[in-house]
Amino acid sequence: MSQIIGRRSFFGRASALAALAGGVEALQAAEKPGARPRNIIWMVADGMSPSVLPMAEYFSRRVRSGKGLVWQELLNVPRVHRGSMDMASLDSIVTDSSSASSSWGSGSRIFNGWVNVLPDGTKLTPIAELARDKRKRIGLVTTATVTHATPAGFAAVSRKRDDEALIAEQYLKVTDVVLGGGRKFFDAAARADKRDLIGDFRKSGFGYAASREQLLKLKSSKMLGLFSASHLPYTLDQRNSETDRELVPTLAEMSDVALQALSGGPNGFLLQIEGARVDHAAHANDAASLLWDQLAFDEAIEVALRFAEKHPETLIVLTSDHGNANPGLNGMGTEYRDSTKCFDRLAAVKSSFFAVSPRLGGTAEYTMKTDTAVAMVQKPTAERVQELARQHFGFEFTPDEVEILRNAASGQKRLSASKQLDSLVGLMGQVVGNHVGIGWTGTSHTSDYTLVTALGPGAERFGGLIRNTQVFPALTELMDVKFQNPSMEPEQARKYRAAAREQRRERPDWA
Ligand SMILES: [Zn+2]
Repeated sequence: MSQIIGRRSFFGRASALAALAGGVEALQAAEKPGARPRNIIWMVADGMSPSVLPMAEYFSRRVRSGKGLVWQELLNVPRVHRGSMDMASLDSIVTDSSSASSSWGSGSRIFNGWVNVLPDGTKLTPIAELARDKRKRIGLVTTATVTHATPAGFAAVSRKRDDEALIAEQYLKVTDVVLGGGRKFFDAAARADKRDLIGDFRKSGFGYAASREQLLKLKSSKMLGLFSASHLPYTLDQRNSETDRELVPTLAEMSDVALQALSGGPNGFLLQIEGARVDHAAHANDAASLLWDQLAFDEAIEVALRFAEKHPETLIVLTSDHGNANPGLNGMGTEYRDSTKCFDRLAAVKSSFFAVSPRLGGTAEYTMKTDTAVAMVQKPTAERVQELARQHFGFEFTPDEVEILRNAASGQKRLSASKQLDSLVGLMGQVVGNHVGIGWTGTSHTSDYTLVTALGPGAERFGGLIRNTQVFPALTELMDVKFQNPSMEPEQARKYRAAAREQRRERPDWA
């Protein structure tokens, strides 16, 4: 026993992990060379730039009475494996989420915007199908639409990630637990083909939940839970909306229900848990929303570790699919003495940019087309801008900043030298940044290596610098699956590029 260094005494009194020590120790003990996990929990904080973790750690201590992040603390625990991942796609150093998740889900790099399909149309076999052949149960949990890029990359095949109605149909055959948003892709009234997909899931033995209460009461080993027509609300907005708190479960609650439902089978499970709105907040340069959703993700990690205490044959991998807009806290004021004070202002922010910007006349939903972030409406008055700032952000803008926002909200361009930041969301990020100290590189994904942290049987495969395509062979081998998907070299893929660009022009509004 003395080799197990992570005794309970390892965790200090202020430790966020102390309460979870049983789970951590169980996973440490189960991580022996060559050991195979029965269960795999693959956790993705979507669009989490590496800079987010230390900022979220400070934010967590600030808003959760001194409690830090579980993820951060795991970095210092023996037998927890740490690494970085190169997430490039087949056609770009900067990946989108569907290509990123497909690289894990198939072992092959593909074009951005596609789901488990090679440029020549060859369909790849996603990891969920292979796990299912091994009689493992499959779960997808997300705060985005359940058919969004990241869950889809594990369980679907589509030339277009936007074909979410098609992706929804594919889940029927391959999943056991699907929880998140995106009811519009399942509901007969909202689907173009009027197919009652919710009814089809029910007929296949799925329990269905449309609210938090229904989910927590659901007694079923197979379940479909859809808690919003589209994405689930930002955690920050949900905290301030009684209705959303009643209707929408947290990521931790969904993860808990999913783990209980999946753990019944004789052969274990593969579960992907995605904190999706970290990415959306980064696209919107919205620091407070991003940090609150990162905390929500951390609470889901706690749930996974608690599960592991009773089920130590579980591999838990924490990672992200790409950086996004790389937020960073700047040195503020003389000798940077204002940085902490500025950052602390984020704790008082009450609403996401997504909630505030329509009141300015724009829409701050994440988008790759900066132009669409600005809706042409009447220019808001200076008083209106200040009132919104006081009410939602807890501070006032300078007169210059008010003018910038008034002009941006009414569609005036060329306010910033940066093309990406010359949009309502980009400019709002900048003027808010003057007060909270956070700067952004742009409003889109970045090429940074993502963080990887793994514990439990098989975790040793996720240390060091790894390539996204190494995940699939590692996971399939750990599931005792012998299978390799075809892949394509970048030189060969180049000739298919023009056609792919055409496709993109049809639906360019994804991220
Ligand atoms: Zn994104």
